[in-house]
Amino acid sequence: MKIYLASRNPDKKKEIEKILHPYKVVLPEEEGINFYVEETGQTLKENALLKAQRLYQIIHKPVIADDTGLVCDFLDGKPGVYSARFAGEHATYEANRQKLIELAREVPPEKRTASFVTVAVLMLDTDNIIFFEGKVKGLILTEERGTSGFGYDPIFYYPALGMTFAEMSLETKNKISHRYRAFIKLKAYLDSLHK
Ligand code: IMP
Repeated sequence: MKIYLASRNPDKKKEIEKILHPYKVVLPEEEGINFYVEETGQTLKENALLKAQRLYQIIHKPVIADDTGLVCDFLDGKPGVYSARFAGEHATYEANRQKLIELAREVPPEKRTASFVTVAVLMLDTDNIIFFEGKVKGLILTEERGTSGFGYDPIFYYPALGMTFAEMSLETKNKISHRYRAFIKLKAYLDSLHK
């Protein structure tokens, strides 16, 4: 079964497709659909829903979407829903990391606790919209480590494995990540519909 992901991000698709296997994940642009949503929600849940609804309005088929935030305890939950634009509108991953590194330098290492939180949504139709949450805890580093992954991965340290998300293979990240924890629940739900 093919399922549309309301996103323009191929990194995200790569991760989600592995989690949802054997479901095939398709980005709108792969089918010539021009997809863009302004993320104006105040919460991850609102933004995930905005993305799903926008794509559903275009294709009228089941869609999935997600929104992720990095929630830093030492910044009262920031950047949170603003993770993509922490260093400004259209900021690069690198600029966002640098801004966080500067703020984290002021804080002792053991107090730099943070969580990645993903809210995934499955929109089957306008009356059937189901949300799933996934969360993973770690520490923010003030030096980048590793080159895989994307976004804040090089500074998100996962103590249980002693490495950052950017130092682990996608396979490993996919077994523990916030996105995995949200989408594996979504997959179980999809499976239950197809029994
Ligand atoms: P999005 O709204 O789900 O695209 O995520 C917002 C921002 O959070 C992205 O621009 C990334 O900076 C960051 N982000 C999301 N997922 C990850 C991840 O798995 N690793 C590192 N950063 C992430």
